[in-house]
Amino acid sequence: SADLLALCRKTYTEQVYGTKDIVPLKQLEDGFYLEALSNGPTLAFKDMAMQLLGNLFEYELSRRGETLNIFGATSGDTGSAAEYAMRGKRGVRVFMTSPAGRMSPFQQAQMFSLMDENIHNIAIEGVFDDCQDLVKAVSNDAAFKAKYKIGTVNSINWARLLAQVVYYFAGYFQATNKDEQKVSFTVPSGNFGNVCAGHVARMMGLPIQTLVVATNENDVLDEFFKTGVYRVRGTVDTHETSSPSMDISKASNFERFVFDMLNRDGARVKLLFGEQLGQSGQFDLSSGIAAARTQYGFASGRSTHADRLATIKSTYELHGVMIDTHTADGVKVAHEFLAKHPQPKDAEFVPMIVLETALPIKFASTIVEALGVEPSRPAQFEGIEALPKRVVNMPADVAVVKAYIAKACD
Ligand SMILES: *Cc1c(COP(=O)(O)O)cnc(C)c1O
Repeated sequence: SADLLALCRKTYTEQVYGTKDIVPLKQLEDGFYLEALSNGPTLAFKDMAMQLLGNLFEYELSRRGETLNIFGATSGDTGSAAEYAMRGKRGVRVFMTSPAGRMSPFQQAQMFSLMDENIHNIAIEGVFDDCQDLVKAVSNDAAFKAKYKIGTVNSINWARLLAQVVYYFAGYFQATNKDEQKVSFTVPSGNFGNVCAGHVARMMGLPIQTLVVATNENDVLDEFFKTGVYRVRGTVDTHETSSPSMDISKASNFERFVFDMLNRDGARVKLLFGEQLGQSGQFDLSSGIAAARTQYGFASGRSTHADRLATIKSTYELHGVMIDTHTADGVKVAHEFLAKHPQPKDAEFVPMIVLETALPIKFASTIVEALGVEPSRPAQFEGIEALPKRVVNMPADVAVVKAYIAKACD
């Protein structure tokens, strides 16, 4: 435990996150806060867990005398968070595929300007799903996977969830002054990863009244919490939105909540997510959803491009705070929730904390559309678009990608 504490101290420093609090609350209104989770190296909340993971990997690999090759697919935030966490780490290489030309210019510059020997950017001629299919194909080749020690860092990685649980506690302690008090969180969601950590925090005893799940136009989760029907979308039904990190067709961490909702009946969960989803693309828990919403304190809402623009604008005009498009989905849905559930003004008052999932500079074009001004850019990212880029282009061909990995490992 002393080693773990040392790794945490090394990971979460004032020098990297800019404040002693690491995840400070920013008050927008009385009892309405943003929790800053995006001041890490890549300006999105994924750093909070990934930075720790990088240090855990380095520690454990060196203890075992092993190496690890992380192979992943990204549409933007996950890839850069993984690369900044693993760059220069002993025993770890990263091979990150991304769809050529599809990430924002800032996101491309963030990843491709890394010159570390152990970081390999692979731009695939195709879309994100082509990249993910490559990851699946490589993962399904057990011999290749074993020979080249292939691993992943996707959002179902339990260590990532564990690290995320901690900032729910940190937010709670900042917004309250007595153990009897409760808080609510609104969480911008795609894969149900971030909000799943909130669910775990509550199961551990943190006094959370409501976890409000905020989706964009890809409203698989909002639909579930309203109706009890979980209906995954096909690739063609998945909208490309201005909060792109939440553009998902199915929510990969969601099974973890359903497991609790069904009283940890693993066989039933397996049936629902296996046969049932495979056959009909949906399952129906409508008879239990109202009770589950109450028992576990879940609510949900959705947000659109127009809502995003309006929320970015009003938050800037009223509070002088610029928020990114994903955080805007959270703020919009939180306001809507509070309008429907007015809070008493006494000791029973429950503060609302919206998780800030990225900084506006990552999604500058929508900010300009909403405000007519460019978002501010942290000094370390000044002019990164002009830096030399380190990336190889490849067709969406498993054999070609495998050959590249094999060569880099030999
Ligand atoms: C990944 C991401 C999300 C979605 O988080 P999940 O845990 O997958 O639900 C939201 N906003 C931003 C900026 C992200 O990078």
